[in-house]
Amino acid sequence: MRPEIFLALLLTLPASAPPSAAAPVLETPHFTFHSDFATNLEDALVFAAAARNREAPELFDAGPEAECFGAISAAARAGWNRVVDYYAEIVVPDAPGRTRERTVLRLDLAGVVPDEEWEGESRTWVDLGRAFRAAAAPAYGACRWPEQDKANRAWIDELAPRLAKHEEAIAGRLAEVYGTPWEGLPFRVDVVATADPTGAHTINLDPPGAHVLISSTDPRYREWAALEMVFHEAAHFLTGRGEPVPVAIATALEELKYRFNGDLTHWVNFYMTGEVVRRALEAAGEPEYTPFLYAQGLGEGGSFRPAIERAWPPYLDGERTLEEAAHDLVRALLEALRGSAAEED
Ligand SMILES: [Zn+2]
Repeated sequence: MRPEIFLALLLTLPASAPPSAAAPVLETPHFTFHSDFATNLEDALVFAAAARNREAPELFDAGPEAECFGAISAAARAGWNRVVDYYAEIVVPDAPGRTRERTVLRLDLAGVVPDEEWEGESRTWVDLGRAFRAAAAPAYGACRWPEQDKANRAWIDELAPRLAKHEEAIAGRLAEVYGTPWEGLPFRVDVVATADPTGAHTINLDPPGAHVLISSTDPRYREWAALEMVFHEAAHFLTGRGEPVPVAIATALEELKYRFNGDLTHWVNFYMTGEVVRRALEAAGEPEYTPFLYAQGLGEGGSFRPAIERAWPPYLDGERTLEEAAHDLVRALLEALRGSAAEED
């Protein structure tokens, strides 16, 4: 889209408008997938600001995008650059990281908080965020959005038939093994370029529900891994505070007096969601699938993988309760720890 056409479109929108309620690209029983202009602009600003803070390459620094950026008006360029400065100072001061400012802007964009509920400092951030995005929109709309929207939609199109085939089986099984029902469905999934810094992130909502950001360009989240990772993200909802899996794990850690360094529930989510997806695909006769944990070599060389591979399949096979499996897991981790301490002696 040429910049001036985009600007004309933009001027038809009130500058302080809350996020667009545009129709999703895909609706399924558990998810609505969006390729939303404002959310993608926000993602690009966060990425550019984090890059600016560490003096790394930004958007519009190279290739045809640099050419495009050089050809738009000085005002549109200055708008973009000053807004990146604001994001670098206020929204992502310690890149890569997540600040309250960033969370507030994201929730405003997802439209999951009624506008009148933004108060005090959050109200200021929301109003500034909307105004700043308006100032950055002409450059982004001219030099990145058309390509980004295409990439997001292609990612969703690739996932759609896989979800159509396997969503019900996987979602149903996840609710069983996590021991808690889905609520607040469908979850809104915003497909963006980077979802800095991990490529995917979920916020659990109140009233119950979840908002997912996921990258359409991160090569780790393509093909069948996209299917697993949307469910891994959604399983953050099933492992929220007070839910059976985190409670069982916290209890086992406490009773066996083990201070695990990290979020053990998150590791269990990587293993269990991956395994549920792998088994569902196998049962449906799909080609053999390697879960994300293994494909990415997560937990390689540590004690987690051997411990969970011993402790968790009996739970998935119905031979152990969740509480027993959590104790088995922590015990196996402790044994591995003692084993490696003995080796060092
Ligand atoms: Zn996660």
